[in-house]
Formats: sequence, structure tokens, C-alpha cells
Amino acid sequence: MAGTRTFTMIKPDAVSAGNSGAIIKMIEEAGFKIIAMKKTAMSKETAGKFYAVHAERPFYNDLTTYMSSGSIIPMILEKDNAVEDFRKLIGATNPKEAEEGTIRALFAESIEANAIHG
Ligand code: ATP
Ligand code: MG
Repeated sequence: MAGTRTFTMIKPDAVSAGNSGAIIKMIEEAGFKIIAMKKTAMSKETAGKFYAVHAERPFYNDLTTYMSSGSIIPMILEKDNAVEDFRKLIGATNPKEAEEGTIRALFAESIEANAIHG
């Protein structure tokens, strides 16, 4: 039976730190199937559209600069209950609040450079 799908991307901090392999391993070990994946980068303009929901936030300009600062690895993942289970795997937005053993607790540098998109 096919599960549900969720979109994610490994963010520039985690790719440049060489943590993408470890993160992909955690995703697979948690039972997600990788449906599609590539290494690419976003322009500042594309990052601005992607995070348009946050356009009025004070961190929007820094966020779109950061998200266009280096390579990213977007992926489409599949699993039963994928959206909810993926949020549990990555942990809270702020790594200081992320549960022990989550991807953000292990790999995020800061609330902005937080390793992965959920
Ligand atoms: P994402 O949407 O990337 O999966 P999220 O849903 O956990 O993360 P959002 O509230 O949607 O968090 O914020 C989007 C992104 O904006 C965060 O992942 C982080 O990179 C950045 N961000 C959020 N809050 C702050 C903040 N207070 N200061 C700086 N950057 C922030
Ligand atoms: Mg979000």
C-alpha cells in the first residue's frame, strides 16, 4: 500500500557541513522511502517565493539569503503518516527546543540554519 508523501530539503548549513549522508541515513532508517532527490541550489528570488508565507517576519530577508547561500538537497518522501512522522523525526524549529535524537537536535546550527525543512 502506498503511504502519504511529504516534501523536504536538506538546508545549506547541513549540506556544506557534510551532514547530508548522515541525515539521509536517518530518514531511511525511520522508514521513509525516497521517491525523488537531487542536489541543487535556490536563487534568492526562488527562496523568497518558497518562504512567501513568512514575508512579513523580521527574519525573512536573512532567511532567504541563507537559503540561497549554498547547495540544498530537496526530496520527496513516502511513508504512512509521512507529514506527522517527519515532523517528529526532525524536531522543533529551534534546535535548543528539539527533542534529543532528532535531526535538528543533532545537526542544526541555529534557529535559522536548522539543517532541514519539514
Ligand atoms: P521549515 O518551514 O523550514 O520546515 P519550520 O516549519 O519548523 O521550518 P517555520 O516557522 O515555518 O519553521 O520557519 C521557516 C524557517 O524560517 C525555519 O525553519 C528557520 O530556518 C527560519 N526561522 C523560523 N523562525 C526563525 C527565527 N525566529 N529567527 C530566524 N529564523 C527563523
Ligand atoms: Mg514551516
